[in-house]
Amino acid sequence: MKTGEKILHGGGYLIEDAIAGTVFTPEDFSDEQLQLADTTDQFLREKVLPHVARLEDHDFDLMVRLLREFGKLGLLMIDAPEEYGGLDLSKTTSMLAAEKAAVYGSFSCAYAAHSGIGTLPLVYYGTKEQKERYLGKIITGEWMAAYCLTEPDSGSDALGAKATATLTPDGRHYLLNGTKQFTTNGSFADLYTVFAKIDRQHFTAFLVERTFEGVQPGPQEKKLGIHGSSTTSVILEDAKVPVENVLGEVGKGHKIAFNVLNVGRLKLGACVTGGGKFAFADGVRYANLRKQFGVTIGTFGAIREKIADTAAALFASEALVYRVAGMIDDRLAAVPKGIPDYYEAYQEGIEDYSIECAIAKVFCSDVLALVVDEVVQIFGGYGYTQEYPAERFYRDERINRIFEGTNEINRMLIPGTLLRRAMKGEIPLQDEVMKAVGRLSAAAVEAPAGPFGGEKALLRNLKDAFLVLAGAAVQRFGGKVKDEQETLLALADVAIGVFAIESAVLRAEKIAAAGNASRAELAAAAVRTFTFPASEAAVTAARRAAFYVGEGNTLQMLLSGIRRATRYDASGLLDAKHKLAAAALESERYPL
Ligand SMILES: Cc1cc2nc3c(=O)[nH]c(=O)nc-3n(C[C@H](O)[C@H](O)[C@H](O)COP(=O)(O)OP(=O)(O)OC[C@H]3O[C@@H](n4cnc5c(N)ncnc54)[C@H](O)[C@@H]3O)c2cc1C
Repeated sequence: MKTGEKILHGGGYLIEDAIAGTVFTPEDFSDEQLQLADTTDQFLREKVLPHVARLEDHDFDLMVRLLREFGKLGLLMIDAPEEYGGLDLSKTTSMLAAEKAAVYGSFSCAYAAHSGIGTLPLVYYGTKEQKERYLGKIITGEWMAAYCLTEPDSGSDALGAKATATLTPDGRHYLLNGTKQFTTNGSFADLYTVFAKIDRQHFTAFLVERTFEGVQPGPQEKKLGIHGSSTTSVILEDAKVPVENVLGEVGKGHKIAFNVLNVGRLKLGACVTGGGKFAFADGVRYANLRKQFGVTIGTFGAIREKIADTAAALFASEALVYRVAGMIDDRLAAVPKGIPDYYEAYQEGIEDYSIECAIAKVFCSDVLALVVDEVVQIFGGYGYTQEYPAERFYRDERINRIFEGTNEINRMLIPGTLLRRAMKGEIPLQDEVMKAVGRLSAAAVEAPAGPFGGEKALLRNLKDAFLVLAGAAVQRFGGKVKDEQETLLALADVAIGVFAIESAVLRAEKIAAAGNASRAELAAAAVRTFTFPASEAAVTAARRAAFYVGEGNTLQMLLSGIRRATRYDASGLLDAKHKLAAAALESERYPL
């Protein structure tokens, strides 16, 4: 970000056109960041992947040893403040490490739970004493951490928790009772961040040591995937927690629970992008080996198209994650270090991008689902057996669409947050809707000259379609729009499509400006390959929303506006796919 440049607020991308060159992309990584990525990658390949069979067999002692070794490399302290021995690196760095650690789903999950939702509540909300007591142990890997929000009867409805906390008569402890469900790292974590209601009312976070009296991890869940990751309940029976271990303010646990999830969601986006690139490479290598009809299957257009489509989706996934991480870094850079309420301002900075964090979670996990599905298909029958990791990739992927807020919850949060901000007057949505109505009912935006002109016109039109539909939704449902889930989901799909296409275009523009012609050509091919299905999906979602919010003449106006405005000319699509597939098959990896 250059000085003087405007920082776009969360959701602002739906209103304003992004400026080329202003977003962070993987091409901007510094040498130090790339070195850290190499260290992480090497650790995973040399120390973790050779032990996958043992880890899948629930050797959690080994998982802990590996996490500790990972910690010795400094990889558990990326997000921790320097004054407590941490590295305090940028979010782009943190996402890069998460991406590289994701070549094995279970390790990724254990790592993300420890260093993300397990550590960050303490970093953001801990007192000096709490940090001095726990943070050093956690960021070096001496202690493992976990996060206990979910309960048997409250998952998505996290604030409906039933776990209770009662102050002892001497005022020195809280007694916690209840069951926390599905705790990642549950069996071996030394420190849990547990949410419970004081006097059944005040939702509050507590730092709970596993060895405290009355704390007991439950048995391992028998899961579909991520078998190497420990998932247990944590049973609290008069668990005796010192009052000093209340984290943050009494009754303000929701702030901790939700703010930590923003970064968690972005990190999940980075993890699944890394997992996707790894699975992709496996599929491509197999396509070069497996022969049918006397030739390798990678020579068949049917297989090459899968390779091209998934490579292009991964390009968008990568572009999107690092764009959001860069936006957050830019915002956090403006928060002066050392101010008394530093982490409050820091949290506000992150919260501003809760829409983009939710998009990263949903979009990138959906991309991984596509990738692993196609990888199994490339492996054919062998993809369905345990002889190859494709089967594990397929099973391990599924959880990403469920935890850190299900994809439905995250989808609804996208337009829901935007509309809430508009109603509070933080976003001039009403004015923008009026302008968009004018543009959409006039003529379709002409494609600007130059590269990606077609994509830019499409984006402007899709943004207008989103704005008009959001306005029509408010008009039709009024204040109750927040409960109109089918409409919110359709609006979310438009908003996600816009952000993903735009991120891919902005990245390709940056690559083009860097002057490496063959890489620029490949990036342009990825944009073309990705934009075609993504724009079709966004247009379908826009039409779906139009049928939900419009009637009679309004509906006809909406439909014709959407149709006219969203004609994307994907000429050269086949050539683009050929280029991408050839590059992937030649390099035997994700080619960008
Ligand atoms: C392997 C694994 C690891 C996990 N790790 C952790 C962890 O470390 N810490 C932790 O606290 N939790 C963890 N979880 C819990 C996870 O975050 C929850 O499972 C998730 O939030 C969904 O909650 P639920 O399972 O109760 O589903 P539910 O909330 O019951 O949802 C069921 C379905 O209903 C939908 N739904 C729910 N509410 C609504 C609504 N208002 N509107 C529309 N649709 C709705 C959901 O999208 C979903 O499709 C983990 C779960 C698993 C399986």
